[in-house]
Amino acid sequence: MHTVERGDSGLEELQRLFQPLEGELEQHFDAQVDAGLAQLLPVLGPVFGVFVILFAAWDAWLDPERALLTVCVRIAMVLLGALAYAGGRLRWNAAWRCAWLYATHAGAMVICATLVARGLVLALPGLTGALFLLALIEPRPHRFLLATLPSSMLLALLASLTLAPAMFLNTLLLYGLSWPLAFGVALANLHLRRRLFLAEQTVLDAVRHDSLTGALSRAYVTELAQHDLLLARRHGRPLAVAILDIDHFKRVNDTWGHAVGDQALCAMVKACKGSLRASDYIGRIGGEEFVCVMPETGAGDALACAERMRTAVAAVTLASAAEPLRFSISAGVAVLDSGHASWNDLLREADGALYVAKETGRNRTALAPPAVPRAPG
Ligand code: GH3
Ligand code: MG
Ligand code: MG
Repeated sequence: MHTVERGDSGLEELQRLFQPLEGELEQHFDAQVDAGLAQLLPVLGPVFGVFVILFAAWDAWLDPERALLTVCVRIAMVLLGALAYAGGRLRWNAAWRCAWLYATHAGAMVICATLVARGLVLALPGLTGALFLLALIEPRPHRFLLATLPSSMLLALLASLTLAPAMFLNTLLLYGLSWPLAFGVALANLHLRRRLFLAEQTVLDAVRHDSLTGALSRAYVTELAQHDLLLARRHGRPLAVAILDIDHFKRVNDTWGHAVGDQALCAMVKACKGSLRASDYIGRIGGEEFVCVMPETGAGDALACAERMRTAVAAVTLASAAEPLRFSISAGVAVLDSGHASWNDLLREADGALYVAKETGRNRTALAPPAVPRAPG
């Protein structure tokens, strides 16, 4: 989050408010805004389209002779705008589709207002109102500019061609003052949405991670693992898990205190993460118990990986204790097969193997035997 330093000028403060988010966060935010737009467009687009056409009644009231012409223009422009939906199928970005819809709908209003007597001056509140509406839907400055530029240029051009100089100036002034105001609303909206996004990410991060070690939380690792398990089953791909447990951890706590115990937990997670592939992940499922999920990994590779983690932890030295402290872990490995009905079954197998590793002397790795297939029902 950006903080305001003492001595910052108002301008610097303002610049900081509208700075993009750091690193990949801005890309995630951008994708979230796009996803929101993609959801809104199929609803808002047709509603606005209908309104644009219904405004033909206003044309008929102002200038009955031109009403037929304007209704045709309105329908044609709305149909042109509907290309935005075909664009969705052609993988047009939601922001481009929004810009296209706005340009065609606002363009229809501008052209028809120009066609009817005194229309352009009378339609000005509606045209400026549309700018504010867009500022609520699409807050990103360059996207806002992209969407409003065509209809704003068209308005300026048609007003210059059809209005008397004083009226032209009046129209230009009113529209020209409304645009920056709407742009300001878009910026404020963007700022609020970014703050909301950051708050959401902070909460998500806290829920998904263990605050002490940085490993995934039990709930999140279970969610990811269940998803990966379904994928592995569907595509007939291997998947392995390893349960890791610190040996005699109670002794570490009792001898050196909980603070050193906490450091051992953090050092263990760090060492294990360093031994994993980028597609593997580790979560804390109990006090000093962790689960490591290895998608696309068979028994041999999973055992090798668990051994790598075991030796990496065995090499850690905690300097904070009164004398350099070493500790070890035991690991139980299980590989998905047709006998595992659920994630819990697979975890139980790995836990069984961990028990064997503990029973046979600790500081070692054991592999669970293949599960016995269950009879249906
Ligand atoms: P074993 O080799 O059989 O696994 O023995 P153990 O002593 O490691 O196993 P046990 O389950 O008896 O002890 C686990 C200990 O982990 C007890 C608990 O105080 C400690 N513990 C659990 N969570 C934390 C934590 O967040 N920080 C610290 N420092 N200790 C924790
Ligand atoms: Mg233990
Ligand atoms: Mg334990």
